[in-house]
Order: sequence, then C-alpha cells, then structure tokens
Amino acid sequence: MSFFPGETVTENAAARVVRGVGELRAALVPARRAGQTIGLVPTMGFLHDGHASLLRAARAECDVVVMSLFVNPTQFGPNEDLDRYPRDEERDLRVASEAGVDLVFAPTVEEMYPDRAATTVEVSGNLTSVLDGDPSRRGAAHFRGVTTIVAKLFNIVGPDVGYFGQKDAQQAAVIKRMARDLSFPLRVEVMPTVREEDGLAMSSRNVYLEPADRLRAVAISRALAAAEQQALALDSLDAGLAAARIELAAAAIEPEYLEARDAETLEPAEHLRAGRPVLIAVAAQVGGARLIDNVLVEPIAD
Ligand code: AMP
Repeated sequence: MSFFPGETVTENAAARVVRGVGELRAALVPARRAGQTIGLVPTMGFLHDGHASLLRAARAECDVVVMSLFVNPTQFGPNEDLDRYPRDEERDLRVASEAGVDLVFAPTVEEMYPDRAATTVEVSGNLTSVLDGDPSRRGAAHFRGVTTIVAKLFNIVGPDVGYFGQKDAQQAAVIKRMARDLSFPLRVEVMPTVREEDGLAMSSRNVYLEPADRLRAVAISRALAAAEQQALALDSLDAGLAAARIELAAAAIEPEYLEARDAETLEPAEHLRAGRPVLIAVAAQVGGARLIDNVLVEPIAD
C-alpha cells in the first residue's frame, strides 16, 4: 500500500547482498533457529525469466530465499566464454528483489576459492562423460566445476531445497546424484524450461546471438517439439530424432549432439517405456552462441 497516490509500489523489500561466507552464515542463524525453511537458487546472474521462475518457486515454498550470484570460473574450459560472460549485477539485484529474494550471496572468486584450494567434488561415470561431458565437448571437468561449487553452496547455505532448471537437464541429473551420493540433507527441485514466445529456451548466452542467428536459433526448440511429436506418434525414438534432424538441417544448424537418453541415468535410450522418461537433448553452435536445449518424452501409460 502506498502513502502517496501515483507512487510505484514494489511489493518486496530489497534483497540484502552478502559477499562473505561468514556473513551469510550469520545472516541465516535466526532463520535456522526459528526452524524456518531455506530455499537456495544458484545462478551465474544476467537473470532472465527462467531464473525468475526458480526464484518464484522458492518464494512460494520456503520461508527464506537465498539466491547465489557467482560466475564460477572452474566450470568454464580454457576456450570458453568466462571473460565475456554477460554480467549486470545492479539489474540482477532488482530482479531478485522483485521476486522476493531475501539474501543474495554474491561472493568474489577469492572468497569461493581460497588460496591453495585443492578439493573438488566429482560425480564419476556415465552421467558426466556423455553429452556435454564428452571429452570432445565441455568434458567431465565442466561438471566437476559445477558439482564443486554447488556442494560448497549447499554447505555454506544449508538449504532445505535447492532449485535448478530442466534447461540444463544433465546438470540437474548430476546434481541430484551428487546430493544423493553425499547425503546432503536437502531436496533438489527441477523446474520446467522457460521459453521465449517463439520457443527459444531462455539463456543468458542468448545475448551472443546476432539478429539473423536469433531467428535461426528457434529451429532448436522446433526440432525438439517435432522429435517429441514424432516419437510419440510412431512410438519410435529414431523417428523422433530423424524429424529433429530435418528441422535443424532446414535452418543450417549442425548439432554437436542430438541424442535420446534415459532422463535419470543418461544411458542411451532405444525405446519409449511408460514410467521411464527419455531425454532428447541437443547442443549446437548458432553464430556466437553455443546453445543447449532438451525435451522430456514419456508415453502415457495405457
Ligand atoms: P545459470 O545462471 O545459467 O547458471 O542458471 C541458473 C539456474 O537457472 C540453473 O539451474 C539453470 O538450469 C536455470 N535456468 C537457466 N535457464 C533456464 C530456463 N530457460 N528455464 C528454467 N530454468 C533455467
């Protein structure tokens, strides 16, 4: 409610920004003592509606919402885009506040990786060696960077729920496995992919797309929609993948990979089975942006 007619009212108070691990832990002591639930949304910033959907879910379910804002250098390969990764902290803080975030944890690299840091967390095997984890692509080192930073965030924040996006399906599967294997006392919640009106999955990296490539990029979501439709109609993953390939080729997009895998184990999937969702995942370079997207396909049980 406003005291001044015509004044714009922001419903939520500004999120508090915290840069230090100790300061964050201290800020959470009263909530923890009061038995309040804590939700954590890890991000690398340059927030879009995909991030906002995770923040809103956390706000709806938890007493205290913590968002981390950290471009994690250890998950970038030497030839990747760490230096040019888009950043806009001021705007991110506004978006976080509007979504009702209580605390934004925005540490420096030195705060997260103290001198002589020598410990990493790695989920080994299939989950991190296929798709993006293939040595010819981002490789297992990428996921080691992700699991190390997420494990640290889990330890620092101590959330009851951690929120992640289905957009990064392999990352979500890896984090779920890590949380289970290491007995983190929390629930991992995976939220649906938020898309632009034309279907392009929202991503901070979409800013790398020149206008012509932005138009072409929509073929990725179109390909996945065709894959799902054909796979279900013909009860054939091969038919689905073939339909996707046609859509990509029509836009002159050469996928790095386009594969059907079990959504949980990431083992290759050959057939559709009720109760066993299949992940059809794609990665492709489109102009200046390496884009990933996916769809979950599951036949309706009869
Ligand atoms: P990032 O800042 O790109 O590391 O993403 C932070 C979190 O937001 C991750 O859990 C992502 O999977 C999630 N996310 C990114 N894009 C989307 C999207 N379009 N829809 C839903 N979640 C997303």
